[in-house]
Amino acid sequence: MTLSDKPRVLVVDDEPMNVELLQAYLSEDYDVLPAYNGLDALNIVFNDSPDIVLLDVMMPDMNGYQVCEKIKNSETTQFIPVILVTALSGREDRLKGVESKANDFLTKPVDRLELEMRVKSLLRIKDLHDNVIMERDQAQNYLDVAAVMMLALDCSQNITLINKRGLEILGYEESEVVGKNLLEQFIPVSSRSEMEIHFLNSVNTSGAGSTYYECPVITKNNEERIVNWYSKPLTDERGKVIGVLFSGQDITIRKKTEEKLRERTYAMEASVDGMAILDERGVYSYVNAAHARIFGYDNPEEIIGNKWAILYNPSEIGLFNSTILPEFKKKGKWQGELVGRKKDGTILFHEVSLTALDKGLISVVRDISRRKEVESQLNDYAAQLKSSNELKDLFTDILRHDLLNPAGVVKGFTDMLLNEENDENKKYKLKLIDSNVTRLIEMIESAAKFAKLEDTDKLEFKPMDIGLILRNVAEEFKPQLAAKNITLDMKAPGNYPAVINPLIDGVFINLISNSIKYGPSDSVVTVDVQDLGDEWKIIVSDKGEGIPDKDKVLIFNRFQRLAEKRKAVKGSGLGLAIAKRIVELHGGHIGVHDNPAGKGSSFWATVKKA
Ligand code: ADP
Repeated sequence: MTLSDKPRVLVVDDEPMNVELLQAYLSEDYDVLPAYNGLDALNIVFNDSPDIVLLDVMMPDMNGYQVCEKIKNSETTQFIPVILVTALSGREDRLKGVESKANDFLTKPVDRLELEMRVKSLLRIKDLHDNVIMERDQAQNYLDVAAVMMLALDCSQNITLINKRGLEILGYEESEVVGKNLLEQFIPVSSRSEMEIHFLNSVNTSGAGSTYYECPVITKNNEERIVNWYSKPLTDERGKVIGVLFSGQDITIRKKTEEKLRERTYAMEASVDGMAILDERGVYSYVNAAHARIFGYDNPEEIIGNKWAILYNPSEIGLFNSTILPEFKKKGKWQGELVGRKKDGTILFHEVSLTALDKGLISVVRDISRRKEVESQLNDYAAQLKSSNELKDLFTDILRHDLLNPAGVVKGFTDMLLNEENDENKKYKLKLIDSNVTRLIEMIESAAKFAKLEDTDKLEFKPMDIGLILRNVAEEFKPQLAAKNITLDMKAPGNYPAVINPLIDGVFINLISNSIKYGPSDSVVTVDVQDLGDEWKIIVSDKGEGIPDKDKVLIFNRFQRLAEKRKAVKGSGLGLAIAKRIVELHGGHIGVHDNPAGKGSSFWATVKKA
């Protein structure tokens, strides 16, 4: 091995003197490697790759032709120029030399000038050749590292060359691809005719390349990859088309991403929420249809390209910049309510959620005008409720002062008349007036209290006999019972002491009155009291239509009347609700079940024993 940059000449001759002579001629410009037999020469050729070989023909072990042939038949050394140096100058010998692929001949005795010229010119040719090889290798390297898939096809669409990237994409070894028909083996059936058109176009428009086009390939795993192709005819030195070069990029991932993006855009388009993207200058770069509609625009295009001031008044923008923007910048998001300006100039309450993007932000908007409207309706309603409470208070005062007074007057005069009256018949009637007016006064007082009642603390309870109350109530229904020829079967003969408020008779009045109202003529209404241990259970049963199961709870709600009965019987739908309230204020329960005696219903209420 030599360190100099001089070209290296291998001089082979079995006669050392000859080697020395050539060495003397050449050593100024070249490094000379000496060899004295064919075998040594070949060793040097294969191991040190000299730039040129001067080879003696007549050698004892192996003649020069044989050595030359070996050099020329090896792929790695075939391009090393060989000059045969021979004393033989016959035609026969020259032919042998040509056959052994020697590049040139020198006749012994070697002329120095001629030697130098031959060596120089052959080295120049080798240099040129080396450059070509280097360029070819560079091109090959380039092809291999290229991110682009490259395929050369002959005119029958068979692959003659494929680069590394191409093999990576297809997932095959080179040997599995080269020689195969591109269309038949690697292009899905549905895309073959299109690919063929591009192939034929390239073949026919020699010189011009095609435009880019997409066509899938099938990989070894039977996967389809989308390739963005470009094809160009390949021509020989005379311009004749000898095939087509296809280059292509695998754009499957890009395509899929684009698809996802498109889906997302569809989703944004279809969203009922308004969605918009603003760039860092506050200009709308994307607006979906809902967003445009919410702000009263027919078309997103009317907003896109405009600053956000188009949808907000300066005061709102000022407020946003001073109070919201700092928080948004810190957290990268913000959610709240803003007041926008619609296309027609009216204001728009909306909920906004802002999320920062790399540059700009995404805004999701929901119209809350309707909610605001409902909110304000609710506020009005609350105000009405407040004034209705005030009305109730007023009504209670009317009960107390304006009704109680005349009732008191009636009672006072009745008492006076009772004292003065001697006629028993008149006395009986006056007593009836008196007892009723007493009950009226009690009722007014209780009702006034009840109206203002918020908790049981304000209600006064005292021990009273439920049996007595029931019998009194029953007595009062005599006219109604008679009118429908209904018998009231009072099964509560004894005493049933309970801690109650006189209001409780309102419950029994309601239950008995309903059973007469909704019970058939000529039937029986039963009133019963059962002992439940701590409580009395009062049951009023009739033989009417009964209450369907689905309504058994509902009828105790205010204003709840059952449709079929509404027409036939007068009522307010308040009675059972009041009864329930009274029973609950007593710590009891109320309900209804089907009359066990058959047709009709049994209404019941419980009260605590004394
Ligand atoms: P109303 O003033 O309408 O009678 P209630 O609150 O007392 O109001 O009763 C509510 C509804 O329950 C009635 O409209 C009726 O449909 C039904 N109802 C009440 N009691 C009976 C009953 N004994 N038999 C059948 N239906 C009844």
